[in-house]
Amino acid sequence: MMDTKIIESPATLSLDKIRVNGERLWQSLMDLAQIGATPKGGVCRLTLTDLDKQGRDRVIGWAKAAGLSVTIDQIGNVFMRRAGRDNSLPPIVTGSHIDTQPTGGKFDGNFGVLAGLEVIRTLNDHQIETEAPVELVFWTNEEGSRFVPVMMGSGVFANIFSLEHAYAATDTEGKTVKGELERIGYVGDQVPGDHPIGGYFEAHIEQGPILEEQDITIGVVQAVLGIRWYDCVVTGMEAHAGPTPMAMRQDAMQVAARVMQEVVAIANRFGPHGRGTVGMVQVFPNSRNVIPGQVTFSIDFRNMTDELVDEMDAALHAYTKQVAAETGLGIAIKEVSHYPAAPFHPDCKDAVRRAAQTLGYSHMDIVSGAGHDAVYMSMLAPTGMIFIPCKDGISHNEIEETLPEQVTAGANVLLHAMLERAG
Ligand SMILES: [Zn+2]
Repeated sequence: MMDTKIIESPATLSLDKIRVNGERLWQSLMDLAQIGATPKGGVCRLTLTDLDKQGRDRVIGWAKAAGLSVTIDQIGNVFMRRAGRDNSLPPIVTGSHIDTQPTGGKFDGNFGVLAGLEVIRTLNDHQIETEAPVELVFWTNEEGSRFVPVMMGSGVFANIFSLEHAYAATDTEGKTVKGELERIGYVGDQVPGDHPIGGYFEAHIEQGPILEEQDITIGVVQAVLGIRWYDCVVTGMEAHAGPTPMAMRQDAMQVAARVMQEVVAIANRFGPHGRGTVGMVQVFPNSRNVIPGQVTFSIDFRNMTDELVDEMDAALHAYTKQVAAETGLGIAIKEVSHYPAAPFHPDCKDAVRRAAQTLGYSHMDIVSGAGHDAVYMSMLAPTGMIFIPCKDGISHNEIEETLPEQVTAGANVLLHAMLERAG
């Protein structure tokens, strides 16, 4: 890339030797986790609450102290900019979210935002000037716990759904996103998306068990899995469980059970990244001595590419068609939503891998089964993600935990990947 130079001291320190200040990053994580801290050591900072406002104010305060200029858009996404040598270039952006689940942890989202802040603080410490500007962002309502849809701020930014649609979303008390954004003072002037992005990196805890199990420090994220959700309804006929002989039944549960088994079999056939889950089941009439007349259940299919998800979809339909013909029962499958797979950019994946190599951290390719703001950014600009391990693969839980050295390693990789891309 372009030549990056260290303007002043320390003249002897080559760029490869630059490291983040791990203690400072850890302290910032612990400070932010005080806002909405729960007795069990987690964080409850639901989006657009008073606590979210306090968290936002805190991060912006730190950004201003680091000399960054702040822009807020109409959905409350906050961009914090460090100027480059050529400010006509689109910025290299990093960040994540600071809202949490009701029983959330200290690291989900917050790590990505504060690792980005630490990268900028480190650039300041060493007076490193980049060719392109560097920006830190936190996106509004990634979690989708208080308001749906999830990944709201980045979704509006990428024009996946409209600002009006997001504004109209209500919580369980009937409060709207628009009203709550106004109340906490975070409706900005900028039209969402009216903000060029030259590249995007997001550092995040893995939220799964693989890195820890393999004893690997850095995950080079290849893609976020594509998702397809269905409702499946199997219709038979209720009858008495005693007098009705086995051969004369239209047992919706037995047919549903075959389909459920096939969901798992399909996921296994389309490995290694295929996932198939039945998480919700309703049985009618749900009575001990009645042959079920109807069973409704959910299906969640995921895989690394949209083509693989399409093939899983075709396999499911072929199977249910065959079973319906064989048994004479009705099997209706309705797709309820679908999120495209987000393959990350080769240049960004390479930048992350090279950074891990330069820094001497163990690393492996990995996929993300969970959604992230980076999914929508990957539709707008070259995007990459960095995963660090989390204890027992647990997140969305107050016991979520990551070690200081893992946090530091992730931020160091982010620093070097961004330096490569920002020039
Ligand atoms: Zn997250």
